Amino acid sequence: MANKLIYFFGKSKTDGSGDMKSLLGGKGANLAQMTKIGLPVPSGFTITTEVCVNYYKNGRKYPAELSSELEKAVKWLEKETGKKFGDVKNPLLVSVRSGARDSMPGMMDTILNLGLNDAATEGLAAATKNPRFAWDSYRRFIQMYGDVVMGIQKKNENDHEPFEEVMDGLKRDVKVKEDTDLTAEHLQELVKRYKKLIKEWTGKAFPNEPMKQLEGAVQAVFGSWMNERAILYRQKYRIPDEWGTAVNIQSMVFGNMGDDCATGVAFTRDPANGENVFYGEYLVNAQGEDVVAGVRTPLKISDMAKDKILGPAYKELVDVRKILERNFGDVQDFEFTIENKTLYMLQTRNGKRTALAYVKIAHDMVKEKLMTPEHAIKSGDPEALNQLLQPIFDIKAYDKAKKDGRLMAIGLPAGPGAASGAVVFTAGKAEELAAKGQNVVLARIETSPEDLRGMIAADGILTARGGVSSHAALVARQMGKVCVAGAGDIEIDYHKGVLKCKGVTLKEGDAISINGTTGEVFHGKIDTADSELKQVLVGKTLKPKDSKVFQYYDFMMKLADKYRTLGLRTNADQPDQVLNAVAFGAEGIGLCRTEHMFFEGDRIIAVRQMILAKTEDARKSALAKLLPYQQKDFEGIFRALDGLPACVRLLDPPLHEFLPQSDNKKGQEEVAKQLGTTVAEVAKMVNELHEFNPMLGFRGCRLGIIRPEITEMQARAIFQAAVTVLKEGTKVKPEVMVPLVGFKRELDLQVEIVHRVAAEVMKASGKKFAYSVGTMIEVPRGAITADEIAESAEFFSFGTNDLTQTALGMSRDDSGSFLPAYQGLDIIKANPFASIDRGGVGQLMKIGVEKGRSTRSDLKIGICGEHGGDPNSVEFCHMIGLNYVSCSPFRVPIARLAAAQAALRHPANAPSAKVVKDTKAAKGATKSKTVSKR
Ligand code: PEP
Ligand code: MG
Repeated sequence: MANKLIYFFGKSKTDGSGDMKSLLGGKGANLAQMTKIGLPVPSGFTITTEVCVNYYKNGRKYPAELSSELEKAVKWLEKETGKKFGDVKNPLLVSVRSGARDSMPGMMDTILNLGLNDAATEGLAAATKNPRFAWDSYRRFIQMYGDVVMGIQKKNENDHEPFEEVMDGLKRDVKVKEDTDLTAEHLQELVKRYKKLIKEWTGKAFPNEPMKQLEGAVQAVFGSWMNERAILYRQKYRIPDEWGTAVNIQSMVFGNMGDDCATGVAFTRDPANGENVFYGEYLVNAQGEDVVAGVRTPLKISDMAKDKILGPAYKELVDVRKILERNFGDVQDFEFTIENKTLYMLQTRNGKRTALAYVKIAHDMVKEKLMTPEHAIKSGDPEALNQLLQPIFDIKAYDKAKKDGRLMAIGLPAGPGAASGAVVFTAGKAEELAAKGQNVVLARIETSPEDLRGMIAADGILTARGGVSSHAALVARQMGKVCVAGAGDIEIDYHKGVLKCKGVTLKEGDAISINGTTGEVFHGKIDTADSELKQVLVGKTLKPKDSKVFQYYDFMMKLADKYRTLGLRTNADQPDQVLNAVAFGAEGIGLCRTEHMFFEGDRIIAVRQMILAKTEDARKSALAKLLPYQQKDFEGIFRALDGLPACVRLLDPPLHEFLPQSDNKKGQEEVAKQLGTTVAEVAKMVNELHEFNPMLGFRGCRLGIIRPEITEMQARAIFQAAVTVLKEGTKVKPEVMVPLVGFKRELDLQVEIVHRVAAEVMKASGKKFAYSVGTMIEVPRGAITADEIAESAEFFSFGTNDLTQTALGMSRDDSGSFLPAYQGLDIIKANPFASIDRGGVGQLMKIGVEKGRSTRSDLKIGICGEHGGDPNSVEFCHMIGLNYVSCSPFRVPIARLAAAQAALRHPANAPSAKVVKDTKAAKGATKSKTVSKR
């Protein structure tokens, strides 16, 4: 390797600095930085991440020069500390720790007290005048080394730790109870037994030579980059395998040499609520691992102020707290040790925090000029903002439920938050109980648009089948409902009205509780509480000035708006959803799914008449009944939008979804009665409409092409609503969107109808209005022929739910059975229905953007699939130059922050100036008055 392998940090020289995280890892870079700014850091050196990368590239082999470089580095450290490896008087002991670019707490290996052997232990005993401490350090080292480097570990969950067993044996032999009762002589005996154990297990002796120990430890730490835990952690947090870890070798200091020693962990502010208080804990006379392992209860950091011996060190810590924030520009989570009253800093990193702490800390530290606004944006986890919106389980009740063994099943966390109430199995029952003021959880095998009423009424939705873009999941997100989808362990029997799971049977009305943030399903009630942010923005029961949480959140959102270049829209089909979304920052509707409107009130009867009509006249007369309903819907939406754009999609789902299926005889009887026909006739029609693969069948623009009257009615409803609302003095910006287009001719046939109806409405009303007609790109052919399609489309919106299902040939509803396994096998990194498959679907999108804009350079392009609210997908949308993302109302804040982060990460990828202007113009309109609900 040509590059420098090792970087030093110490009094005589420090090679690295805080901005070298990719090369030195987070820990190494920050140790260097702390040393540079004069904080008391024990000297050491860092082996770079490049060595690790190289190690894996070359079949787990080190660069040839590493050994000699390591030796040189140890010599330097010996000189720096005045100690020597293996010395009988004053031995050098080091810690060996991993340190990836992003911290991966506890995922990789650490070794402490390295350098001890029999001679050095005598040396340590002499130097510290504390033989017990020396032998205890030695036995801890052997134990750690034996476990991490030599692989002496329990074989399964039920086994005892082999070293613990040996220790217990000794304690029995010498008749003591606690580890602390063991004397120096006992510990010396323990060391012997540990070494014997190592020999028995591995056939090898414990290495005596410190340099050999070091080489083994370095290898183990590099090896731990690929352990199962670390791989899993990286998958979850999207840390690339290619980054590798650095290894930090640092001279040891001891917090366990007596009562003038201590070790602790602290945060510069409270990571749970963001309060500007010193937060942390420490243990007197202990090693760092004792704090983490929780063997003794630590003391609050503020208690140290009163400690006669450690008081001065506390004063230093208070200064360190300020210095750290000023230098690192964020809340720090740091580890320290006090050795004979002297304070040492062992590590620092940006502290992980809750969403509440994030907004408060960012707000406070930006105002205090301690944090840059850019860092405030970049350091947030957009997804975590959900925590601010969701009702939560009362923590005590939740812990108790778990303790009591009431957890029944775990499904997909599809709509975050907590819900608890009576379990019901039908939409009707959900409405009935909710109307009586009861909390309900609607449990269905899977949901369909017919369940919508029930989903609205319910506090939570639970399904046994379906993935993250299943109907239940997307509707739940749109409505901000708590939802657990695809909880495969539960069985629902509609006929018997029971839900069964692992021996528990719940009847309709029994209490159930679901946690949509984790996917957990409990039987019985667990108390919940509403979030403050929701009370301000949705319920309007709390004034902004009375909510600190809102003020912090609002500060951050406004900051995000300064940086983002992507527009933000919402998927909403009801005025109240629009109002919620606008309150969260949406600048228009990116997808109004009109089919949901067909289930409101008793209009389903006219829908069924329309579907079952034998003649065009009969169909037209049914559509004529639907027209006023639809028009009213759109009027409500336009009013709620108050001048913001409304992208309305023409009818999309397969027609049979509106009819009772063959397993619903009662429903068929009802329809027959409503329509004045026979049950047999209804059954026959349902049968005729049956499709084996309805998602790829008679849906999307295919409906409007074969039954143009539907498109005509919908276009008329949109435009007549526009005229009505315009006449009231409210601006309207309708955009008519044609779904599932793969051929330009399909779009042409629909566009022609829309334009004709628009002209007719303008003529009849004497009122002119602006509108546009565009298409969804949601089948691969649409993306590939985007240049042709753009000739007829004034805008595109990527329907990535369908584009994913059609590009991957994976059903969005049925892929739950194999996708988790696919992730486990590393075939896919993430669920492609939740996060855009950049390499496949993403490439189709890129083609769509490039080809579309090759025809129409100012083509406005958005996304309205579920991915529009996923931070990673939002970043991708920014990268390929989309103009806006559209997501469910409650995900708007998430997309808002994610869009700002994307803009900071990829400043060159802002969408074309011309279209941005259009979105910004729309932004201005949001300032106006509040809008009455329909
Ligand atoms: C899509 O396919 O991404 C889309 C938004 O449409 P729907 O989910 O309604 O099919
Ligand atoms: Mg679609």
